[in-house]
Amino acid sequence: MIKILVLGGGYAGLSFIKNLPDEIFKKAQITLINANQFHYHTALLHKVAAGECDKEALFDIKKVIDKRVNFVVDEVAKIEENTVFTKDAKFEFDYLIIALGFEKETFGCDGMENSREITTYAKSLELKNEIYSKFDELADKKRENLDIVICGGGLSGVEFAGALAREGAKYAKDKFDFKKVKITLVEALPQILPMYDEKLHKKASEILQNLGVLVLENSKVVKRTKAGILLENERVLNADVVVWVAGIRGNSVVDNSKFKNHRARLLVDENLKFKDNIYAIGDVAKFKEFAPTAQIACQMGAYLGKNINLLIDGKNAPKFSYQNKGLICSIGKERAVGNIFGQNISGKFAVFMKWLTEKKWDVELEGVGAIFGR
Ligand SMILES: Cc1cc2nc3c(=O)[nH]c(=O)nc-3n(C[C@H](O)[C@H](O)[C@H](O)COP(=O)(O)OP(=O)(O)OC[C@H]3O[C@@H](n4cnc5c(N)ncnc54)[C@H](O)[C@@H]3O)c2cc1C
Repeated sequence: MIKILVLGGGYAGLSFIKNLPDEIFKKAQITLINANQFHYHTALLHKVAAGECDKEALFDIKKVIDKRVNFVVDEVAKIEENTVFTKDAKFEFDYLIIALGFEKETFGCDGMENSREITTYAKSLELKNEIYSKFDELADKKRENLDIVICGGGLSGVEFAGALAREGAKYAKDKFDFKKVKITLVEALPQILPMYDEKLHKKASEILQNLGVLVLENSKVVKRTKAGILLENERVLNADVVVWVAGIRGNSVVDNSKFKNHRARLLVDENLKFKDNIYAIGDVAKFKEFAPTAQIACQMGAYLGKNINLLIDGKNAPKFSYQNKGLICSIGKERAVGNIFGQNISGKFAVFMKWLTEKKWDVELEGVGAIFGR
């Protein structure tokens, strides 16, 4: 039997497995290694960190994948030749699919190594626990105020700021005055959400400000000091909680494996091949100049799953082509802005479309029953 090893059970890894043709199981043993027993819906992690949702973001991997796949919970450390070394064992492979996702990139910004992040379920939960225990200190009058600084006004920063402002205010009701909590969103570029046009920037800023979030654009973070966050314009922000969502890189396993890489991402060709018998998909792959998103991760996984048989047999496989359907940014549970199929959207329609994109993944994993609640 050919050994196909899949590293990472995120959108890319699970899309790969979900799209494998039946014939592949006759000639290959498929093994999936993931750090946790659960898959987390990464695009919902800002909600976990803000206290808007919790277990809804988790899926038991064993229950959503084909029973013929050998599933191993372990942490991958490095890859050498045709062997993957994990914390507890080593695995040989004939074909390797690397789908290990992303990590925080601080670009050397001093003091940010220990900032909070929204990169995994566990780290998002740690952030939520820190914030809510500080909310409780406000309620118990053990502290006077709370300054939360979110560095990075891209999709995850804006989504987190919006969700936290809404959920925090709900939690504070009858417990303490939410005006004691200052949420500041800091962005180095002239505008937040740089992938959208002027109209949507303005709309997103307005919604955030109405939720009580202070938006600072043109404000590059220089470093984190004891006094707080130092900006390039020399302003210093008080910061009890610092969240860094200003950059991502691929996975450190790529560095450990001494592969040629671009910020821990692997450059792949039009069949998503990195080299020889190694493929990379999702955020850990660099395909042309496309930004890493869940959308492209799912499409890469589906493409490779459907075509791996042809690629193994050395037959001509179609080239991967990315269909960008757009991106929607939620700002709290009741507001959203976005662009789909080239059209700007906002209001209830955007909220509905965002819900639909999130549910689409639930349905892919669990079937149509997932629409009616999990
Ligand atoms: C808050 C937030 C909101 C977002 N919203 C959107 C959105 O609305 N739309 C969109 O398209 N994109 C969105 N994104 C981006 C999207 O989540 C990523 O592009 C996507 O998760 C990439 O999928 P992936 O499968 O490559 O990696 P991941 O989803 O990160 O999965 C990687 C998997 O590998 C596992 N893993 C990692 N390291 C190891 C190891 N050493 N050993 C074993 N297993 C390991 C992890 O546990 C995980 O299961 C958002 C991201 C964030 C953080």
